[in-house]
Amino acid sequence: MSLLIKGGTIVTHEESYQADLLCDGNLIVEIGENLTPPEEAEVLDATGKLIMPGGIDPHTHMQLPFMGTVAKDDFASGTVAALAGGTTSIIDFVIPSPQQSLLEAYHQWRDWAKKSHSNYSFHVAITWWDDSVGEEMETLVKEHGVNSFKHFMAYKNAIMATDDILVSSFTKCLELGAIPTVHAENGELVYHLQNKMVAQGITGPEGHPLSRPSSVEGEAANRAISIANTLGAPIYLVHVSTEEAVDAIRYAKDHGHTVFGEVLAGHLTVDDSVYQNTDWETAAAHVMSPPFRPKHHQDALWKGVQAGTLQTTATDHCAFCIEQKSMGKDDFSKIPNGTAGVEERMMVMWEKGVNSGKITPNEFVALTSTNSAKIFNLYPSKGAIRVGADADLVIWNPNASKTLSAKTHQSNIEHSIFEGMTINGLPETTICNGKLAWHEGKLHSKSGEGQYIDRPAYAPFYEALTKRQELNQPKVVER
Ligand SMILES: [Zn+2]
Repeated sequence: MSLLIKGGTIVTHEESYQADLLCDGNLIVEIGENLTPPEEAEVLDATGKLIMPGGIDPHTHMQLPFMGTVAKDDFASGTVAALAGGTTSIIDFVIPSPQQSLLEAYHQWRDWAKKSHSNYSFHVAITWWDDSVGEEMETLVKEHGVNSFKHFMAYKNAIMATDDILVSSFTKCLELGAIPTVHAENGELVYHLQNKMVAQGITGPEGHPLSRPSSVEGEAANRAISIANTLGAPIYLVHVSTEEAVDAIRYAKDHGHTVFGEVLAGHLTVDDSVYQNTDWETAAAHVMSPPFRPKHHQDALWKGVQAGTLQTTATDHCAFCIEQKSMGKDDFSKIPNGTAGVEERMMVMWEKGVNSGKITPNEFVALTSTNSAKIFNLYPSKGAIRVGADADLVIWNPNASKTLSAKTHQSNIEHSIFEGMTINGLPETTICNGKLAWHEGKLHSKSGEGQYIDRPAYAPFYEALTKRQELNQPKVVER
């Protein structure tokens, strides 16, 4: 089955040009001017539209069991939302319980994800440590296409990774050619401040940001980077939300360290005034960690995006409905943490980034797709438009517009953190694995058509890192 896209402008992370594009099976097989459709090919007219690599959201949590409940969007509804927004691949998280086998958890998540409509892959979280964890990390890297491991520096008494775990796990990652990633918030301080707020009678959602001030993230970001730096390991910081963390990444990059930063569409556009809303449900709907921040942090994040300090955009899509949020009615620390966004991410980046003159369309592609593909070693199968690459594409209509709302989004929850935002420039058609997956507001892909993506170890940045390591081997002084 082949698909010919005619008359559009191809936009990659490095160039824009007019060409037709032919997909056959799940690959791009030809790019050129005035291509003749093969017999029985489906033909799509993309005149006046942009053809870009399908989005990659490197941070989602579909169906996550968390804080005593399970996220409302499962791998079916969550990946439909992804496709509706032009995202063709998600990298979700396997989160083993402390003491649980990593492989057991991995197979559990693989099983849940079988119903995905879009492509998917998994980071695996390191929530505890003994020798068996290191051995299972090796199995995951060598046999299961996992090349990244996540560490939560927050969530004390649950899944928090303490410094000894970070040191052991980062060392193992380096040995395996994998990349450690961190949720950087000081869990001890969060725990202390949560108790303090509740003791002072601040039990509503306004207590959430008060228990997680920006310095809590700044401290953890600096610590995680310093640990990785000392060990010679690369590091990736998920959902960077503060000026302090951007500064920490910039400082490390300026000093030659391999460090990457991810930013969420939400943190770039929503500020902490949402927690002052007198409607409990609306305030609680915005409870996620790290929390939304005072506006000056948004400016720092955008500057980090423009300067290349932050390379990827994600959503941390983890949807909880009002009923689930109500579990924390009397204590904000019990409100399940998470918001939706996998559908809106690219639209928000287009509107607030491209339309605001902060980034070019080519930089948009890098930030929404190519950079994640490179860091997590999927490039150029994903994140690229070239002959031989996977036919995961989004056709963008720069002249269409709509207003975002929970009433029309695909997610299973009643709130949207982007409610009321008008977007000029929309994903109109999403092609996943060479097939129409979403077209003009309608779902075409079936549950189970999404493919698991193997991610091999030793992403390209490892070449320089390994060379540095070889050159800096400690030497015995002969006497
Ligand atoms: Zn997350």
